[in-house]
Amino acid sequence: MTPHTGAHLRKLAEGLHVWLPRRRGWGLANCGLVVGDDTALWIDTPYDRRLAGRFLAASRELLPPGVAIDRVVVTHGNGDHFWGAGVVPNAEVIAAKESLEQAEAEPDPRMLHAFVRGTVPEQPSPSPPSRPVHSTPPRPTPPRSAGVEPARPVTTDAAEAPYAPYAPEAAADRRAEALLSSYMRRHFGAFDWADTERVRPTLLFRGELELSVGGRPVRVVGLPPAHTTGDLFVHLPDRSTVFAGDVVFGSTPAQPGDHAVHWAGPLSAVSAVCERILATGAETIVPGHGPILGRSGVRAHLDYLHHLRERAEEFHARGVPALEAARRVIAERRHPELGLPERLVVTMRTEYRHLSPAPRPGVLEVMAEVARLAAECEGTGDPASSPAG
Ligand SMILES: [Zn+2]
Repeated sequence: MTPHTGAHLRKLAEGLHVWLPRRRGWGLANCGLVVGDDTALWIDTPYDRRLAGRFLAASRELLPPGVAIDRVVVTHGNGDHFWGAGVVPNAEVIAAKESLEQAEAEPDPRMLHAFVRGTVPEQPSPSPPSRPVHSTPPRPTPPRSAGVEPARPVTTDAAEAPYAPYAPEAAADRRAEALLSSYMRRHFGAFDWADTERVRPTLLFRGELELSVGGRPVRVVGLPPAHTTGDLFVHLPDRSTVFAGDVVFGSTPAQPGDHAVHWAGPLSAVSAVCERILATGAETIVPGHGPILGRSGVRAHLDYLHHLRERAEEFHARGVPALEAARRVIAERRHPELGLPERLVVTMRTEYRHLSPAPRPGVLEVMAEVARLAAECEGTGDPASSPAG
């Protein structure tokens, strides 16, 4: 069953709308719709085809006759931001070239679907592009581009994979596996990827890309590793708006969000991107998840990131393992209003990896620690996470 997220389109400006899930939780991303007279563009998509279908139906109500979603700009390679692109199969899917690294590291949709339903996970495997990639400019308004490269099928060599594979047999014990399965079912089981193919970008770029929708500029800014490898943000200068992707997790007193989860890091890089977003002068910042923020909201998020970084450095210097460091940060209860505190172990591990270089673990291996920490939080009466479904 697809989660009833109560998502709705909110108008930000003429021809600019945000698809906002009303709930917080894993996988419920904000998306953008930019409409012109002769073309329309999405910024990110919902996680599965059914949710994306709802976004598409709502989008179509706002499109001029004969106009379709021609382009999808993907802020990064986490599936919750682009696996829904299959509902617009003719659209150009635009992503930073480096995002392929993150996308390849994640389980593919059908594997994840099987996993959350209790079957044994398999190794993520590369699959061929679902349709031919090409380097022609997106239609119908060709972008003025810098550093655009044609998308190509990815060559993956296991020996060169930057991530350690997930090996269920390496899990500490059966209890760890049971906790992981239970956690994944609770937080991802309401999504439905039974009929979702792995989506491949059709236009990859490095640097910056300037698109035009309805004659108005859409700046697509590629970024160094931060939330993931291959992040970008989308700046609409004449609407004073930035779609930040997951370098920003939104939270306000009126609508608390979730703890940030960062896979690439370091946190100093995430903060640097937040500063770049502020430097655009934008007054409206749409985070990857959580409520829309103003500039003060991004500054508050910078404080949050700075504090996490300080705690990570201190615990690391004292020889405290990352899992225990996450435990202690949760126990300090600096942000009891935020959901999914167990995700701090991901961010803490990421930061530790930059403090003491170590191989990058597989996504599901990290999720096993997330599940363990969630069980501990719930067992000790700490705020339970809000399930995605
Ligand atoms: Zn996300």
